[in-house]
Amino acid sequence: MKKTPFATKEKLEEIAAKYPTPFHIYNEKGIRENAQKVKDAFSWNKGFREYFAVKATPNPFLMDILHEYGCGADCSSITELMLSDAVGLKGHEIMFSSNDTPDVEFKKAAELGAIINLDDITHIDACLRALGGSLPETMCCRYNPGGVYTLSNGIMDNPGDAKYGMTHDQILEAYKRLKDLGVRHFGLHAFLVSNTVTNDYYPTLSKTLFDLAVEIKEKVGISLDFINLSGGVGIDYKPEDTPNDITIIGEKVHEVYDEVLVPAGLGDVALYTEMGRFMTGPYGALVTRVLHEKKTYKDYIGVDACAANLMRPAMYGAYHHITVMGKEDEACDHTYDVTGSLCENNDKFAIDRKLPKIEIGDLLFIHDTGAHGFSMGYNYNGRLWSSEILLHPDGTFDMIRRAEEPKDYFATFDCFPIWKKLEKEWQ
Ligand SMILES: *Cc1c(COP(=O)(O)O)cnc(C)c1O
Repeated sequence: MKKTPFATKEKLEEIAAKYPTPFHIYNEKGIRENAQKVKDAFSWNKGFREYFAVKATPNPFLMDILHEYGCGADCSSITELMLSDAVGLKGHEIMFSSNDTPDVEFKKAAELGAIINLDDITHIDACLRALGGSLPETMCCRYNPGGVYTLSNGIMDNPGDAKYGMTHDQILEAYKRLKDLGVRHFGLHAFLVSNTVTNDYYPTLSKTLFDLAVEIKEKVGISLDFINLSGGVGIDYKPEDTPNDITIIGEKVHEVYDEVLVPAGLGDVALYTEMGRFMTGPYGALVTRVLHEKKTYKDYIGVDACAANLMRPAMYGAYHHITVMGKEDEACDHTYDVTGSLCENNDKFAIDRKLPKIEIGDLLFIHDTGAHGFSMGYNYNGRLWSSEILLHPDGTFDMIRRAEEPKDYFATFDCFPIWKKLEKEWQ
């Protein structure tokens, strides 16, 4: 599908006049409409809840909006737990799906009454130790079927190489132990393939997990309370991708549910999801201004954002569509590398990209940065984190996170004399 920016050039210039580029901007209208669609798609399941994967976009304003649609939070670290607590999420509205977990984090999760999802069978003991000898009434286990996981349309991934989850035998053993330890409510969780652009992922995963739920009932004698399909529902980063249709996904999962769980007497199982990318990815963009054009062996467009603001292209060679604002209808008859300023040659938002002729001062709209965009930022080369802006449905906008300043960058030096000297610099 043709990719169109969710804001006009005039609007972005108006915002940039107040909050200088680069910034990440989020489309509140898009986030709300999509959250409602997700809710509707699974409304056939009584206990359904989406736990927004906080790591995708850990911003309290966005978490608040999603909470209006019943979304909780999926956390994997203590700071994410603190954030979820701060935005007012309570108890089972928080899912703690961590791995390689420090004791203090199990403790914090339990204190908040979050659902703890164990990544490994040895974590039963780790959790017991951390919590002083007793476990919460509700516990969840993470499954890894191993091998290669293939969807009907050919997409596959290698759970066998993934560090997450328990094997089939371990997970049965884990439920037995948990039951013996007095746990009364149980969940099952798995995340097997990332960024799937197909309506088949959740239905296929459902079949795997629902079959396992039936086996758990037969072999361990427990009826699961919930099954968490986790994340992995992808978005159409490329114009040629066909976007996932969450309504169809919900219907297909419903069919598998009726086929496998209902006949096994498990028709009360609540379904959870833990989507990050699908909830906010398409509704965010990185807006950056062109600073330089450099012509050597290639034609480079240098912008005021860099990989520290959006790591995906540098890290995975990920495609992010770029629109040159105001030139939407011009021919893409120039070939550019669009680069940031890091002293790293992989700091390129696009390589050999066909774009309209670019002028210095043009605004570029880098699409689909609403998840795993801002949040994967870092400070290499002393680059500072950008601001985040929320564009409201009525066209007004607010800053929902300020840009980092030198004082933030140097804050962790506050115990050293040099800090006093630096402090003078930024005042
Ligand atoms: C990253 C992650 C998610 C979200 O993944 P998306 O691909 O953004 O949907 C959900 N659950 C867990 C445990 C994760 O690590």
